[in-house]
Amino acid sequence: MTLHIDDVTLTYPDGEQRLTALDHVSLTAEPGTLTAIVGPSGSGKSSLLAVAATLITPDSGRVLLNGRDLAQLSRTETAKARREGIGIVFQTSNLLASLTALDQLLVIAHIAGRDMDAARIQAMDLLGAVGLVPQADKRPSQLSGGQRQRVTIARGLMNQPSLLLVDEPTSALDRHRGEAVLDLLRELTTDRNLTTVMVTHDHEHLATADAVIELTDGRIATLADGDAVEPGVVAIASTR
Ligand code: ADP
Ligand code: MG
Repeated sequence: MTLHIDDVTLTYPDGEQRLTALDHVSLTAEPGTLTAIVGPSGSGKSSLLAVAATLITPDSGRVLLNGRDLAQLSRTETAKARREGIGIVFQTSNLLASLTALDQLLVIAHIAGRDMDAARIQAMDLLGAVGLVPQADKRPSQLSGGQRQRVTIARGLMNQPSLLLVDEPTSALDRHRGEAVLDLLRELTTDRNLTTVMVTHDHEHLATADAVIELTDGRIATLADGDAVEPGVVAIASTR
């Protein structure tokens, strides 16, 4: 689905005042594309993903999924749209220590009340897509950091979302494993026609992105020529 973030401003309470985490941010992300969001710590990257995930309602501005404004829907309808349409791989989405890789995925289907035989086939298919079939029966402690990250990505795809939101997927990984995870996201985005928006602090891997958006103090800065972005990467961001 197409994600439109339209002139979003988000503030948080900060003592007597309000802290502006997002300041008139607009962006569009299309199916089959990977959008990278970069910027220093505290610049609003995670907040932007939470707004895109419809987990936080902004103070002003709109979030449209395929032209539909979820803020117009009831709470239940929003939750349903989120569950069915959005895959979320956030830094806080930890794996459960006692479950195997396969079971981490099956939990999602179980919660959704789905047919578990079909879910098992889909989960094995997803573990195949992230290269983890031999690790299906391993618990998190038996997996490497890169493998754990692959499980969280596979789990984020269990509800067959069309919008995939990923927060710093490479932050705990060395360069080589980080690159592999980004290659995987690129491949999944193309193969499954996902609209993928990924936050990364890592400027090294941006060549794989279709668009790079830089946030500074909650504002979008369109990247200038000569910035640390590979040729061919276009900043499509707009700001007011
Ligand atoms: P980033 O992901 O780029 O590090 P965040 O979106 O997490 O940035 O945070 C942007 C700003 O909003 C920061 O100044 C942060 O301290 C503040 N912030 C984030 N979440 C909250 C919250 N729940 N309550 C208050 N302030 C918050
Ligand atoms: Mg963050």
